[in-house]
Amino acid sequence: MFDAILIDKDDSGQTVSVTKLDDDRLPEGDVTVRVACSTLNYKDALAITGKSPVVRSFPMVPGIDFSGVVEASSSADWKAGDRVVLNGWGVGERHWGGLAGKARVKGEWLVPLVPAFSMDEAMAIGTAGYTAMLCVMALERNGVTSSAGPVLVTGAAGGVGSVAVALLAKLGHEVHAVTGRAEEADYLKALGASEILPRADFTEPGRPLGKERWAGAVDVVGGQVLANVCAQMRYRGTVAACGLAGGMSLPATVAPFILRGVTLAGVDSVMCPREDRIEAWRRLGEDLDPKLLAGMVQRLSLAEAIPAADRLIAGKVRGRIVVPIDPSVA
Ligand code: NDP
Repeated sequence: MFDAILIDKDDSGQTVSVTKLDDDRLPEGDVTVRVACSTLNYKDALAITGKSPVVRSFPMVPGIDFSGVVEASSSADWKAGDRVVLNGWGVGERHWGGLAGKARVKGEWLVPLVPAFSMDEAMAIGTAGYTAMLCVMALERNGVTSSAGPVLVTGAAGGVGSVAVALLAKLGHEVHAVTGRAEEADYLKALGASEILPRADFTEPGRPLGKERWAGAVDVVGGQVLANVCAQMRYRGTVAACGLAGGMSLPATVAPFILRGVTLAGVDSVMCPREDRIEAWRRLGEDLDPKLLAGMVQRLSLAEAIPAADRLIAGKVRGRIVVPIDPSVA
């Protein structure tokens, strides 16, 4: 038996609780993993609160991420004892996820845990951090070098934003951070941001084109904020857009794209091909200072993670939440 968060739904609504499950209830898959750590991402919080239809079938174990050790495998790629990480692929949405003592998944969804990180550090990074790295890689593909000009990170005190600030600063960029929480200025500066900009500067409708300010941007917010960021990019700048914390819409004009050659680069972590995932994790091992993770992380039990979902959706969680599951799995 192992503990898991279980989301269920009937005519009276959604229920979420920590439950004991038997191995027999694990879904189909060729690799069974003993989970060391999981985490609470924005999408997990949407699933647990039911604020968005993230969960596609019930009952569901949420958790789009886990790190752990292979317990049993009939996949040629993995053997018992291998240290692995999973991010996305619909796990925690359509397939039982990582907020549980065990997970059974397809071997092709797993990547090896990079030696630079412990199980706990891998989940301090989690999908949020791996997505931040994908965003940085998208900026690099589009020629955003550290000498091209300052770069901007929105939703900077959240999970994706915190890791993006740390990565870009370590790579030598001048990082400007947008936050709605002025009290997190010192935190963001400790991660490497040189300028803190209030979110309120970005939330009202702006002009189609503003002053040219940034060579690159990582946007986790969407909506009016993303539109205003696009309007203030430098000539041929690139915005890596990965989130919708501020809304799904994009009330922009084409002016930045057709008059300044701005690129809007979409970033998806869920179905991202395996080779890009492996490269993103390799780069995280190289370009993220693990010491910075300590200041970004709070650790919560499975039971504590349930009420934390509301706080995360409300934008009240700083950095990342790690959910240690079994410290004996290392
Ligand atoms: P967090 O909740 O940790 O961070 C989001 C941050 O956005 C908040 O901390 C806050 O930062 C800011 N924010 C919150 N609400 C608003 C608002 N209404 N208007 C403007 N800013 C707001 O979430 P994550 O960092 O984990 O995820 C961020 C986004 O990225 C989510 O939309 C998530 O779904 C998406 N995402 C997408 C992925 C992909 O594959 N494309 C993968 C991972 C995440 P502050 O207080 O500093 O302003």
